[in-house]
Amino acid sequence: MCKNMPPLELAIQFHGHICPGLLMGIRVAEFAQKHLNVSQDYDEELLAVVETNSCGVDAIQAILGCTFGKGNLIFNDYGKNVYTIASRDKNRAVRIAQKFKEKPEPDSMRYRQLSRKVVLTDEETIERENLLGIIFERIMSSPFEELFTWQEIEFGFPQKAQIYPTVQCALCGEGVMEPRAVKNEKGYICLTCI
Ligand SMILES: [Zn+2]
Ligand SMILES: [Zn+2]
Repeated sequence: MCKNMPPLELAIQFHGHICPGLLMGIRVAEFAQKHLNVSQDYDEELLAVVETNSCGVDAIQAILGCTFGKGNLIFNDYGKNVYTIASRDKNRAVRIAQKFKEKPEPDSMRYRQLSRKVVLTDEETIERENLLGIIFERIMSSPFEELFTWQEIEFGFPQKAQIYPTVQCALCGEGVMEPRAVKNEKGYICLTCI
């Protein structure tokens, strides 16, 4: 992936489409970058703890370089649009929470309604595109504080991602990371064979 791409393009390319959730994630990533005064992470300097697994997290991965594979993206399945971004070098962390909206804007509601439909008419497709344009403007140009609350927090950094030996499962013969295998009289057994 080209690291010189603007954050918006990075995120869209990574996520595969543009949507309101992704745009919110872009706002979070850009705010965290600025607030913690860091550039894109290349060596696990940044760590993200996310409390949702929806679209916005892809912006965190694409823009901040906190990814599942690198081990610097931690997913807590709490169903909340809350993102904690921490910098090891600076020993600082910021917790960013999307504000709760009792009544979403009518255009957002309509957009969601259209997005849930399996087949759209031509008119609906155009309507959806137009709504996305309006929502795009609103999300990208609103003051950050209107969309999110944030605070610096104390953060206990976990150990850096570790690499474990791979052992062979005595039943299926496939390799399995040692701490995930169960040992019995037959040898190592992987979790899918138990
Ligand atoms: Zn999306
Ligand atoms: Zn097995």
